[in-house]
Amino acid sequence: MEQQDGTVPHIAPWASPDARARITEVAAGLAGLWRDPSPGRVAQAVREALDEHARQFDDQGIVLYAGTNVMSEAARRAAGATVSGRPSMGWPGDKYQSGLDHLDRLEVLTPALVARLVGARFAEVRSHSATMANLAVYTALTSPGDTIAVLPERAGGHTSHHAVGVPGVRGLRVVDLPYDVDAYDVDLAALPGFLERERPRLVVIGASLLLFPHRVAAIREATSAAGAHLLYDASHMAGLVAAGRFQRPLAEGADLLTFSTYKSFGGPPGGVIATDDPELAERTSTAVFPGLTANYDAGRLAPLAVTAAEIMGDGGAYADRCIAAARTLAAALHEEGFAVAGADRGFTDSHHVAVDAAALGGGRAAMARLAEAGVYLSAIGLPWQAPGEPDRGLRIGTQEVVRRGLGDAELRQVAALMADLLLRDADPRTVRKAVRRIREEARSA
Ligand SMILES: *Cc1c(COP(=O)(O)O)cnc(C)c1O
Repeated sequence: MEQQDGTVPHIAPWASPDARARITEVAAGLAGLWRDPSPGRVAQAVREALDEHARQFDDQGIVLYAGTNVMSEAARRAAGATVSGRPSMGWPGDKYQSGLDHLDRLEVLTPALVARLVGARFAEVRSHSATMANLAVYTALTSPGDTIAVLPERAGGHTSHHAVGVPGVRGLRVVDLPYDVDAYDVDLAALPGFLERERPRLVVIGASLLLFPHRVAAIREATSAAGAHLLYDASHMAGLVAAGRFQRPLAEGADLLTFSTYKSFGGPPGGVIATDDPELAERTSTAVFPGLTANYDAGRLAPLAVTAAEIMGDGGAYADRCIAAARTLAAALHEEGFAVAGADRGFTDSHHVAVDAAALGGGRAAMARLAEAGVYLSAIGLPWQAPGEPDRGLRIGTQEVVRRGLGDAELRQVAALMADLLLRDADPRTVRKAVRRIREEARSA
């Protein structure tokens, strides 16, 4: 077998050329392990990878990637439980296994806290990801062959909304909602005619980049007039929504809310489905269990409950800091000469900031250059990019740097360093040193 004679293992020969090149490079660095994958050597190899990652990313990096966060100390302590390695299947009092009765408290407490936070009567918290939560909604509310209408990818429509993702798994036809670039939202004037023509069963809003709130009430009016349900995917906005900031999608008219629990929400990885409607709650929850999940990780509920309680307890202070940080960073980037989206509307109402990187060689090139300097984020499509054009935006989220203690002065330094690197051609090694200094000073402050 090739794996045992030191040559490249069979990992994703169908992946992109860039991925193939990287996998080959990594495999070459691990060559000794193919000959002797003893438990001790493998344990050492994974330990080194984790430690070096922690140093580069957690300790020294400035993480502006919008789709991540760090849990609070209390949540991390709650996450240590060995229960994550054990199966748990079914409702309290009706479990497949015996002996899990103390965990019943988590299974009652956590969904109740999460539901209260997002202003819903019901929350289903057992999905392992928002992608699976979205699939549960599709499973509950649509049949194969039905149409759903979603935001275009260039407007932040997520993989889990598009045919390449879970809607394809459900056999759905996916159409793009009409989009109003100037409003950063669904095109309200075109929406009724569009719904009449396409007849979707479900309309999905909420995006991977969301600078300004959706006009949920108006979208809901058109959607229900056309006999469709409205799902708001708050994966990125959940921390703000839970704090009563940005918008209250269910109160404004969405039938269902889904979200990731590990982005701005700041909890462990997982997905939530929330709704006020008992019938939708039963259908979507049944799609999660026993539909798409048998055993699940009940250990995840402990840090989720702690995180929910922290959001409830801080009166929106963390969410407000995230939004203020985004506005500070956006204004500073604008002053440095970057093309920051939403300049005429105060840049952002959320913790997201978007920079148009077309003049910098595109989003992917700018992202790679920033990574060389220890600043981590992602490229993203922007609503005004041409069909087929590669992602021309950089997406920034402030949820992690706020937790790391970066204040206004540090955020302005970050903007200046990004300009040094991307607009003034500074050496990434020099910028990397300054990036580390900012983290060190924020830690000791
Ligand atoms: C990140 C994201 C998801 C996926 O969340 P996972 O929990 O990683 O599956 C779904 N929808 C949107 C809009 C997202 O941004």
